[in-house]
Amino acid sequence: MGHKKVCLDCKISFNREFDSGSELTYPCPECGKSMTLLPHRFRPPKKTDENKWEVVKFLIDNGFYYQHISEPTIIDNTKYVEYPDNLREAKEFVIKYKNQARK
Ligand SMILES: [Zn+2]
Repeated sequence: MGHKKVCLDCKISFNREFDSGSELTYPCPECGKSMTLLPHRFRPPKKTDENKWEVVKFLIDNGFYYQHISEPTIIDNTKYVEYPDNLREAKEFVIKYKNQARK
């Protein structure tokens, strides 16, 4: 399964095939900071879409790295929650699912 490397500052992303794991940090070609590794299903917003990038950053800061989040009330947890794409919903999202956030 592939991953995406994302730089939240430069608002860029690259596909990255999952390798053996020997390489743990991925410096951004533009700013040199470590890029964030996200699951392949993450769909990066357009570079110019500042608001959506703001949401992505907010979610990651709160421990939501686009991992699967399941609806707690649903017993069959193969149903996953959609990630929000606006800040208002994102704020509700991080509160509602905070026990599934990555630490
Ligand atoms: Zn960068």
